[in-house]
Amino acid sequence: MTDPIVARSRAELDAARASLAGTVALVPTMGALHEGHHSLLRKAKRNADHTVVSIFVNPLQFAPTEDLDRYPRSFDDDLRMCADEDVAIVFAPTNDVMYPSLPAVRVCAGAMGERFEGASRPGHFDGVLTVVAKLFALTRPHKAVFGRKDAQQLALVRRMVADLDLGVEVLSVPLVRDRDGLALSSRNKYLSAEEREAALILPTTLSTTAQALADGASPAQALTIARALIASTDGVVLDYVALVDPDTFDVIADVPGGDDVDRKAILAVAARVGTTRLIDNVDVTLRAATSAPTPREV
Ligand code: AMP
Repeated sequence: MTDPIVARSRAELDAARASLAGTVALVPTMGALHEGHHSLLRKAKRNADHTVVSIFVNPLQFAPTEDLDRYPRSFDDDLRMCADEDVAIVFAPTNDVMYPSLPAVRVCAGAMGERFEGASRPGHFDGVLTVVAKLFALTRPHKAVFGRKDAQQLALVRRMVADLDLGVEVLSVPLVRDRDGLALSSRNKYLSAEEREAALILPTTLSTTAQALADGASPAQALTIARALIASTDGVVLDYVALVDPDTFDVIADVPGGDDVDRKAILAVAARVGTTRLIDNVDVTLRAATSAPTPREV
């Protein structure tokens, strides 16, 4: 266990970064670290000589109506978790350090950034990708670790790195759940006991729907089941539930036909529980139809 260097300014970050020899993995976070983030820290530690964690609640990715001001903050606990995982640097800039002026030039997430999360949160992914690009420039990592909890964000970061030749290897970790099945999220702190109970319909819906797909339901049939489950839960308002390609977030409407191979997909859901917006997803494999082709009529 080693206490990380806490860098607040660009000068402090530059000095600390210059002291690191070997490979660096960056873990970008908004703080309020939980076991989901812990898994990112462990992945970084296993895959690079040094870990740099950024803790920054990025105003660029919040709409004016969203929870920027009340987003949970727990810096001392965050530092302890970072120390436990031998994080070398915690970069925790203020808004002024990160944005000396409001950036006029930003990363545009494109069409993939306008669907699902992007449809509900216009401009969100432009804000995310802009800050990730800046963090890459500031911390100069060889690798960066993201969670599959934010599956669309992960797909977009991979696409940005490829499209803009950023030369950072993107690693990911599986979504981490609480004991009761709820996906860990800093925003779970907003939930009352009753809301938390109601929120469990999200993982339940995902597992039931994934099972329906495994049992041969079409995507349309499976999504009908999903919508009905959420609609039957008081206090939970569905935003979207969708079966998508993990790389493009294009909707998958059909299971693979007889000649096709199995296909990886993500079943993703977003819903509002009280005033809290939650997201969740599971990986599914769509099995190619194996039945023999029907004989042609003569
Ligand atoms: P955040 O602090 O919410 O911006 O998240 C920082 C990183 O942690 C992102 O790459 C998230 O996908 C990841 N993360 C957050 N919650 C989880 C979770 N429950 N399981 C896996 N990764 C997570």
